[in-house]
This record gives sequence, structure tokens and C-alpha cells, in this order.
Amino acid sequence: MMERIILHVDVNNAFLSWTAVDMLHKGNKVDIRNRYAVIGGDEATRHGIVLAKSMPAKKCGVVTAETIFSARRKCPYLDVYPPQFKVYKKYSDRMYTYLCNYSNKIERYSIDECFIDYTDSYKKYGNPVKLAYKIKNDIRDNFGFTVNVGVGNNKLLAKMASDFSKPDKVHTLFSNEIKNKMWPR
Ligand SMILES: [Mg+2]
Repeated sequence: MMERIILHVDVNNAFLSWTAVDMLHKGNKVDIRNRYAVIGGDEATRHGIVLAKSMPAKKCGVVTAETIFSARRKCPYLDVYPPQFKVYKKYSDRMYTYLCNYSNKIERYSIDECFIDYTDSYKKYGNPVKLAYKIKNDIRDNFGFTVNVGVGNNKLLAKMASDFSKPDKVHTLFSNEIKNKMWPR
């Protein structure tokens, strides 16, 4: 019997990346991923919170779920962009449609995460790790945002694998790797 293979695809810093990609598509010259930028709500009331932050903002000490007010104290040049769920849905749908090429068993776990049951796709598409790299690179090159792909024998292992180190990476956590890969952590 063929072993079960699951791929977990997780968009890196989804809200900020998707907003950045959308702005670039609309002709914006600046990639907000490289600026002091956050996605967050309702700054006027000062109750808005940080939903996502760029790497430069992170280096300033900005953390997810803190208030915009507090984030701006750490990072005075911070640019705040509102969440745009229609935009996120658009990029999420594109990714999902692309992933449907490789399996008809795909679970949309959240707006930026999918589980692909690869077990029946093995014969057609071959080595799942090779395919994981192809998926990662295709999404980056065609859609302009990056993902992590985790490969494992069930959803939990695949999801843990995709979380190992980011961004734009493939990791495996097969049942027989748990001891070696998890113990050092
Ligand atoms: Mg994600």
C-alpha cells in the first residue's frame, strides 16, 4: 500500500505580501515588503491592531496584534495599509486554482493555507518533494508572492514542516524523520 503524502502550502506573510503584490500590479513603484509597513485597521480610533508587518518593521520591534499606536512609537516612519479581504481572496483563489492541477483532493484550510492530498497524485507527478519545489517556485515566479511547502505523511506533520524556516522554503517531516528533526528543537 502506498504511504499517505500530504503537502501543506502556506503563504509567507500573506496579508502584507498580497497587498504589496496588488500595489505593484497597480503600478506602484514601491514594494512595501521592503519598507516600514504594516497591515492594520482603523488608525483614527487608535484601536486598530497590527495584522501583518514587513521585515523592516519587524526589525524595529513591531509585533503582530499590538496596537498601531504602539507600533508607531517604535517605528515613527511606519506606513499603515488597511486590510483588503477582496484582494486577499483574489490571490488565494489564484493559488488554489493553480494547486488544483496536482490533486483533486485539496482542502482550503484558511485564506492562505491549503492541504494537498498527494497520495493519488504520486504516480502522475512523481516525487512529492520535487513537486513541492516546483509549486513553491511556480507560485513565486507567476504570482509574485512566496510560500512555504511542508511535506509529510499526515496534515499535522506537513503543517509542522512548512513552519520550520521561512520564507520561500520546502521542508519535509515524514514519520521516520520525526526523531531526528524534532528532537533538536
Ligand atoms: Mg501563512
